[in-house]
Amino acid sequence: MQSLSGKVVIITGASSGIGAATARRLAAEGCKLVLAARSAEKLAALAAEIGPDALAVPTDVTVAAEVARLVAQSVAHFGRVDVLFANAGIYIPGQVSEGDPDAWAQLVDVNVNGVFRCAHAVLPHLLAQHSGDILVTSSISGHIDIHWEPIYSASKHAVQTFVHTLRRQVAEAGIRVGSLAPGRVANELWGFHEQSAIDAQIAAHASLRSEDVAEAVVFMLAQPSHVTIRDLVMLPQNQDL
Ligand code: NDP
Repeated sequence: MQSLSGKVVIITGASSGIGAATARRLAAEGCKLVLAARSAEKLAALAAEIGPDALAVPTDVTVAAEVARLVAQSVAHFGRVDVLFANAGIYIPGQVSEGDPDAWAQLVDVNVNGVFRCAHAVLPHLLAQHSGDILVTSSISGHIDIHWEPIYSASKHAVQTFVHTLRRQVAEAGIRVGSLAPGRVANELWGFHEQSAIDAQIAAHASLRSEDVAEAVVFMLAQPSHVTIRDLVMLPQNQDL
């Protein structure tokens, strides 16, 4: 395994859930963190908690200029970018016949185009230094067709295809691209805010913790440079999918 100490990591969706847990976990590994999401106050609080190795850059991944500014500020502040953790995402389940196409368009703009935009913005830096990682939070819904969340499942299938194709475009340039696909994670996405409610989910083996996913991020990034984890699927023990 390679040390992650000193790596500069951009995390989108860092204001809560998996992104915030991963920021804390990578800080413990000695990484320098660039925290991105729309909620400026939450990002500022997390950056203050982590200390001088964290920079908060409020960013909406649906706005190309904000994504460009995110990467420019990362390079200006820390001198480089080593890792993009493209993790921001929103969830909409439900019947297609009853859904809101405008809300779906927003979902696709965050879950799919947001990943495209962020990868496009960091790639020149990774290509110039002939190294780096792009890690995307997909979902079990990107590996199987989940009928109660068709738009979300389609968005995560798109992410899967993007990871697999981009990986082959940049592999010889020394850049690794991987997808991390969790099943149900008990966090803000499902409305879990109280620790006791999260603990009950874990005790029933019905959900993962955000911290479990953060641990998988470390596992993927810490592989030696000749190893790519292209896909990692992790499920709570009792999830019947
Ligand atoms: P959360 O709802 O806790 O986090 C979602 C994050 O995305 C927030 O930080 C939110 O920040 C950010 N976000 C949403 N819209 C935007 C935007 N337009 N621009 C920038 N950031 C945005 O849920 P999770 O931590 O669980 O979700 C993280 C990823 O994990 C998502 O891609 C999700 O699809 C995936 N996932 C989640 C699972 C689960 O069961 N929870 C299971 C499998 C995958 P803000 O609102 O401040 O912008």
